Amino acid sequence: MKKQKVCIVGDGLTGLLSAVALGELDLNIEIFGNFTKIKDPDIRTTALSPASFNFLLKFIEKKHSKLFWPCKKIDLFNEIDGKVNFFMDFKNNRNNLMYIIQNIQLKKILLDRIKQNKKIKIFNTRIKKIDEKSSSIILNNKKINFDCALLCIGRNSNITQSFVGKRKISDNFNEIAYTSMVRHNDIITQPKQYFFQEGPMAILPINKKEFSLVWSISKKNDVKTVKKTITNKLVKYVFVKNPKLLKLESFPIIFNFNSNLSRKNVLVMGEGAYSVHPLAGQGFNLILRDIKELQSLIKNNLSLGLQIKDSFLLKKFIKSRKPENLLFGMSLNLVHKFFKSNNIMNPMKKRIMKDLNKFEFLKKISLNISNKGIFS
Ligand SMILES: Cc1cc2nc3c(=O)[nH]c(=O)nc-3n(C[C@H](O)[C@H](O)[C@H](O)COP(=O)(O)OP(=O)(O)OC[C@H]3O[C@@H](n4cnc5c(N)ncnc54)[C@H](O)[C@@H]3O)c2cc1C
Repeated sequence: MKKQKVCIVGDGLTGLLSAVALGELDLNIEIFGNFTKIKDPDIRTTALSPASFNFLLKFIEKKHSKLFWPCKKIDLFNEIDGKVNFFMDFKNNRNNLMYIIQNIQLKKILLDRIKQNKKIKIFNTRIKKIDEKSSSIILNNKKINFDCALLCIGRNSNITQSFVGKRKISDNFNEIAYTSMVRHNDIITQPKQYFFQEGPMAILPINKKEFSLVWSISKKNDVKTVKKTITNKLVKYVFVKNPKLLKLESFPIIFNFNSNLSRKNVLVMGEGAYSVHPLAGQGFNLILRDIKELQSLIKNNLSLGLQIKDSFLLKKFIKSRKPENLLFGMSLNLVHKFFKSNNIMNPMKKRIMKDLNKFEFLKKISLNISNKGIFS
């Protein structure tokens, strides 16, 4: 049988990792994106669970694994009635709890791997149209046929919008996630999460002297005030003596779960399919599990000599991944709502959180879920 072709549209983490993972199989891969972009680099940072990191290790060179900052512990703090108190920690004494890397670095590692793989063809161009009826991508009046296409072009693309339609489960928090790299002169090696009254703030070190900060707050605040408030909070509660915020960027937060993820031989993946609250740093971990499952299903098809095109493969994929992703996303919403300050809830919250750290069994379950997912 002629080698089957998978076209991957998008040069974000989803598109790049899909190309790397599927590039290991007996397939021809074509990836489309703006690979020469110098403007607007992705300043976000990704915290990967140990299971996600192990999946990545299969594809990356040993020297690159050293670029990930390993952490054994995360401390959680909560603000109630103007006071910020430690209430819980998660730790993994024997193994690491998470691995942190800047998106720019992770993208570079993945792109280098793609360039080394002769089965992957790179098209440095943005796609304008995808015709699912004829299973082809329209590029400068040229048709590129595929057996399967993955649309990994994020949540803002018109192509994604027209593809997934209007059926979705969504929740608009009216919030925005501010993120910035912070330089300092102290030594901070472990991540921390602060549930401030205004919203959750994550501190994710990438080395001893720099950490990435993500603060999700109401859209009402202006950037100047946000910058000042972040600096004050870092000094007062995180005990950073002289924090230097580099470029501050913002990402609107929305919980979005599209119902239609596939049409004919095209599958929407990544943030175009669903986006979850960044509070627990789970977004890309969920996507990575999707990629792992897709790779395994295609591998199975290939080993049986079956076609991907017009098969049940994409439906099978959606059936196996959709329930977990939806459950995960909704659980994050619940956690977020619980911590959002509310004077009526405060006495109850205080009581619940007083003893939360003692429930080792619950902590173990939470750790397992954030590492491998709900159903593993
Ligand atoms: C502040 C913040 C912090 C986060 N932290 C974490 C974390 O710690 N851990 C975690 O697991 N997740 C985290 N996430 C989530 C994670 O960043 C996203 O899930 C992930 O980056 C999504 O990648 P993507 O490739 O699906 O989408 P995108 O990053 O949006 O990439 C889509 C790409 O497609 C390209 N594209 C668009 N249209 C076309 C076209 N027509 N043709 C070709 N290319 C096109 C775009 O240029 C873009 O590069 C965080 C998110 C935010 C907002």
